[in-house]
Amino acid sequence: MQSVYVDMDDVLCQTAQHFLTILERDFGKRFTFEQLTDFDVGQACELTVDEKQELYRIVHQGEELLNIPPIPGAVDVLQQWSAAGHDIAIVTGRPPDTYEPSVQWLNKHGVPHNRIFIVDKYGRFAPDGSQCISLEALRNHTFCWAVEDSPIMAMYLASQMKMPVALLDRPWNRKDTNHELVSRHHNWIEIAQALPSNNP
Ligand SMILES: [Mg+2]
Repeated sequence: MQSVYVDMDDVLCQTAQHFLTILERDFGKRFTFEQLTDFDVGQACELTVDEKQELYRIVHQGEELLNIPPIPGAVDVLQQWSAAGHDIAIVTGRPPDTYEPSVQWLNKHGVPHNRIFIVDKYGRFAPDGSQCISLEALRNHTFCWAVEDSPIMAMYLASQMKMPVALLDRPWNRKDTNHELVSRHHNWIEIAQALPSNNP
């Protein structure tokens, strides 16, 4: 059976909202969710290189990651898919050293997962071929469908891997995501309806 590809940040976890909370709490900068019109939060919030580095350092601490709330509906839908016998692959672009807290988060919220892939989605790390794989190596795996929020990844999966992508509508992915294999959805209920449990 083929796997369903499920991204983590801003697909399962309310990560961008958590970024905004930290920006206000630790940097004294206030932005709204709708202002995040660029996938790069540093660009969207006009942060300096140092500010962006510090923001990412804070966000990727284990305690911070564990405190990110889940996106409404996500866990329920994945539990339904899993109960129906479908394989769930979590495919994240987080840094490799966030593996442990990420697994803890999945378990804490009862997210079913058969496999976890850490993929160098954005050329940020050095893939080591085992814990962290390259985008090229991801192509060796077959998925029947992906759920993503990243415009770059949605286009890569659709155009390079020829797979259907359910794109969760976000301010940062409203442009450059036109592809016949990319469909836009506003929440997990819409995604569940678009991907019937007997589909994979
Ligand atoms: Mg994401």
